[in-house]
Amino acid sequence: MGNLSEHFNHQDFFCRCEACKGSKDAEYKIHLGLVGALELLWVKLNRPIKIKSSYRCEAQNEKLGGGRKSFHIYGKAAHIYVDGLSPQELFKKASEVEEIRGLGLNLEEGTVHIDLRDEKDRQEWVKEKGKYVTLTADRKHVYGLD
Ligand SMILES: [Zn+2]
Ligand SMILES: [Zn+2]
Repeated sequence: MGNLSEHFNHQDFFCRCEACKGSKDAEYKIHLGLVGALELLWVKLNRPIKIKSSYRCEAQNEKLGGGRKSFHIYGKAAHIYVDGLSPQELFKKASEVEEIRGLGLNLEEGTVHIDLRDEKDRQEWVKEKGKYVTLTADRKHVYGLD
C-alpha cells in the first residue's frame, strides 16, 4: 500500500527538477483521476508501473519546453514505463483505459505519456528526435501500435 493509493506514493509524482528534488516542502500537484487511471492500468497489466516523471513546477516546465498547455503543471500527466515491457506494448494497454485522453509514445525516453485532458477524441502522438508526430492509422502501423 502506497501513501497515496494502493500502489503509489506522493513522492512518485513530485517534480524531478534539481530545485524541487532537494526540498522537502516543494509544491506539487496531483490529480486523483490520474492516480485512478494508473491503478486501472496496473490491474490490466498486472505488473508494476514506474513513474519517470509527472508534476512539473513552472521552471521545469519552461525548461522542458512544455508551454502553458502542458498537463504536467496541473498534475494531470505522467511519463510511465514498465520493466520488461516495451513502450509500444504499454501504449497499447494504456489505450484501453478510457480515462486516458492524451497518449504519447516517447521514443527518446522509452516511456509513455498519459494525461487526463478534457477532450472527447483522444489525442495520440509519438515523440521522436525532438518532434511530435500525430498518430494516424498508417503511422500507428509503422510504430507497431496497432
Ligand atoms: Zn521543480
Ligand atoms: Zn509529457
